[in-house]
Amino acid sequence: MYDKHMAQTSDLAAARATIVAAREAAGAVRHLAWQHSGDELGAVVRELDDLDRAVRAAIVAVTAEAIRQGGISASQCRDSVSWLREHAPSLRQGGSRAVADCAAVVAAERGGRGLALHQPAHNEPAEPPTPVEVVCEAVLSGELGAPTAVTVLAEFDRLRSRLRPEAHSTVAVALTQLGREWGGAQVRRLRPSLLAEHGLPGELQADHDTLARAVCLSTPAVEDGLTTYRLTLDPESAATLEAAIGTLSAPCPDPVTGARDPRPASRRRAQALIEVCRRATAAGERLPNSGKAALIVTVGWETLRSALHGAGTVVGTTATGTLMAPETVRRLACDAEIIPAVLGSGGELLDLGTSVRFFARAQTRALWVRDGGCSFPGCGTPAHWCHAHHLVHWADGGATDLANAALLCHRHHDIVHRDRLRGEVHDPPDAIGDRAVHWDLSPGSYDRAIRGRPAA
Ligand SMILES: [Zn+2]
Ligand SMILES: [Zn+2]
Repeated sequence: MYDKHMAQTSDLAAARATIVAAREAAGAVRHLAWQHSGDELGAVVRELDDLDRAVRAAIVAVTAEAIRQGGISASQCRDSVSWLREHAPSLRQGGSRAVADCAAVVAAERGGRGLALHQPAHNEPAEPPTPVEVVCEAVLSGELGAPTAVTVLAEFDRLRSRLRPEAHSTVAVALTQLGREWGGAQVRRLRPSLLAEHGLPGELQADHDTLARAVCLSTPAVEDGLTTYRLTLDPESAATLEAAIGTLSAPCPDPVTGARDPRPASRRRAQALIEVCRRATAAGERLPNSGKAALIVTVGWETLRSALHGAGTVVGTTATGTLMAPETVRRLACDAEIIPAVLGSGGELLDLGTSVRFFARAQTRALWVRDGGCSFPGCGTPAHWCHAHHLVHWADGGATDLANAALLCHRHHDIVHRDRLRGEVHDPPDAIGDRAVHWDLSPGSYDRAIRGRPAA
């Protein structure tokens, strides 16, 4: 026992002597650097960075050990933050809180067995590491700095209850890698794709439904003759806007001289938005001449079918890469405002918005006459503002014909898909009312009806 203790002490003494030597070497570099150039200087910076990361990791490890042994509470310092500021004065400039928090997590996680990495016995089945283990290991090996580690742990805690339990360590590894490559600020941007891939059923949709309620356009504020608006959009609205103004906002070189467009991008985008409004008003109550399709979303066939897992991805505009929740994609797939590029399980293109899915102009005209406007009970939205909804969803094999179609305004189209409501066409309208489409407004009525339908 005595010998082992001595051995550890002398090892630490040797390590401390090397640390002092490394510090002196780093201090000498500035006097030597001028004799060298290019590649060699880059290599030196790389080595200094490795040293720096190792030092920061060691500070977390040693602080964790001090916390574990109870040394900090026995000292005169109020807490581990002031203990750190006393012993590592450079942390007074900032970052002591993150190091202290990180050390506390490491101390709790590695508490029972010291800071050495857990080695499973030979007959012990290898369990996947817990998320905290993943992050602690990344911190102690110098891969992840303390502030980023704290962000990763906070983001994981926010996601935890919404993930499938078996995916916990995968998600922790993904967040850790993103933090290592791009820093803490980027960690949160992974949330939609993590929820799409590893979330419990419906979680991405729930996120997007929450975001959709935050959509707003301020009333105009006029100052010095200029009017300012504040516009806040959810992913779907933003992708729709970007698709609508995309081509219109491209730079137009002078047709005669070929000189570049002098307008800044911000002005081109604003002018494109006004042009879209102008065209919409000018279109009046006429049927659109061309297809409305402008937004392209790629989506896996299974995602389109299941309506629970996965997501669609916007391609081809500045909103490229935006994820669309599965039920949103199903709603968009009803009408021609989107081209879903449906992918098979191998990623092969199954359908790129075939005309079969879009209602023909003659059909739309007949639908306008039959429904008069939004077919949802109590809604008076006129026909030219409505979408043509497939009563049996296109994704479930519903046909593109009048007996399977109903006009819905954007809001009610959203509700019909969200609450999964079933509509039926009674044409000519029966005695119940003058509307051709009858809606069963109890949530889930669509799924109950679909289950009772003979397989196609
Ligand atoms: Zn629909
Ligand atoms: Zn409506």
